Amino acid sequence: MEFDIDLFVVGAGSGGIRMARMAAQAGIKVMVADNNPLGGTCVNVGCIPKKLYAYASQFGHDFKDSAGFGWQLSDVNFNWRTLVSNTRIEIKRLNNIYEGLLSESGVEFISGSACLVDSHHVKVGDRVISAERILIATGGYPYVPESNYAGLLTTSDQIFDLPKFPRRMLIIGGGYTAVEFASIFNGLGSKVELVCRGNAILRGFDDDIRLFLATELERQGVNIHFNRNLVQVTKLQQGSFWVRLDDKSEYEVDVVLSATGRRPRITGLGLEQAGVAVDQRGAICVNEYFQTSVHNIYALGDVVGRMELTPVALAEAMVLLDHWYGKGEKYMDYNLVPTAVFSQPSVSTVGLTEQQAQNKYGHGRINIFRSDFKALKQSLSNNKERTLMKLVVDSNTDRVLGIHMVGEYAAEVLQGFAVALKAGACKADFDRTLGIHPSSAEEFVNMRTPVY
Ligand code: NDP
Repeated sequence: MEFDIDLFVVGAGSGGIRMARMAAQAGIKVMVADNNPLGGTCVNVGCIPKKLYAYASQFGHDFKDSAGFGWQLSDVNFNWRTLVSNTRIEIKRLNNIYEGLLSESGVEFISGSACLVDSHHVKVGDRVISAERILIATGGYPYVPESNYAGLLTTSDQIFDLPKFPRRMLIIGGGYTAVEFASIFNGLGSKVELVCRGNAILRGFDDDIRLFLATELERQGVNIHFNRNLVQVTKLQQGSFWVRLDDKSEYEVDVVLSATGRRPRITGLGLEQAGVAVDQRGAICVNEYFQTSVHNIYALGDVVGRMELTPVALAEAMVLLDHWYGKGEKYMDYNLVPTAVFSQPSVSTVGLTEQQAQNKYGHGRINIFRSDFKALKQSLSNNKERTLMKLVVDSNTDRVLGIHMVGEYAAEVLQGFAVALKAGACKADFDRTLGIHPSSAEEFVNMRTPVY
């Protein structure tokens, strides 16, 4: 059978663009469709604007800290519109870069919503294109639980472009998004209520880290409500919101941010028509080579919901590319994926939590090295912020199974340690590595005695 093209990619986010570019460079005829600006969640409403806003928020802390170092700042003001418009300009620049990368590689981009007609045909607007293979990389969207006030809630897609800076904010959720925005807006000067339905934030992270970060967030001024749920939200005449929690406490805030997780973006894709199976969460079911229930249709990234991280989507695309057009030697390794939460202070982690290590290897085998200290920078700043570093070690093999940190530049510190773990580093390797002095990171190679 003759096809118009070799590969049709639905979704121009991190995974889709990576695949489209690399495949086109290998001589494959590729088309990509998306109804949003190029770059997907990461560039437009995720990692990039979030990190820029986190930098903005960090200045708020730095201005305060600088006084102990002799700086006298007067008239320090924050202008929300400047941050919003400069971020928009940067995002537009990145959109254009992606556009250039696609066209330079010979990929045809179609702006519009793509819908599968059958297993080999995709419809975008009036066009129907036949493709030998189809890749779905449509990402996800913020999930808002059903309620009679759901329409009054703001999501992470809208938060970057609020017309006015929110002086008071209530955030529902305790995951990455909730914690990051709580820190960002607290640092920028908002009064933040963080409402978490469980008894700790950041489910899935090491328990020590979860507790430690919550303490630090509260020290910075974030008001955390554990074991609480939202029961009512009403819009007031002046544009603010009146919010009630299940302990009957009430708040008037300018924004209620729903940060209650994400769901795969599959609506309108025509998956049923094409026979593509999804699981209960709506994630597209794929095998180890990202093949769906239809032999020539593949999916990767957030829409398959394995690990919703940009580097994971990029790596999945490279594995699939190798499987299709390369030597077929690569496989996707979801072990030791480093990750960071850009809170204030930040969190970064790679490998097993203490609990996971104990479950896997048994209690008696796990040594915990832990250091909780005040970083040198805080000695003059009068900032009470503390740093936590933790190593999880298998005492039988001496292998370091997990590294966890809460503190300044945690992501920057842990990226290098992630390489060490991937290379199979043992605690003895840490011990014979000299520290970089004075730094916080050196504490990771100076922890000599297990705490238990
Ligand atoms: P998460 O799934 O990580 O967290 C959702 C939070 O909302 C949890 O605390 C959850 O509670 C809570 N929740 C869920 N449903 C309800 C409800 N009905 N009522 C009240 N609370 C509810 O979602 P995020 O949006 O934070 O992040 C999604 C994914 O995106 C992350 O897993 C991560 O992979 C990625 N991401 C990565 C970032 C980074 O790399 N820095 C930044 C942001 C997102 P409970 O724990 O009890 O289920």
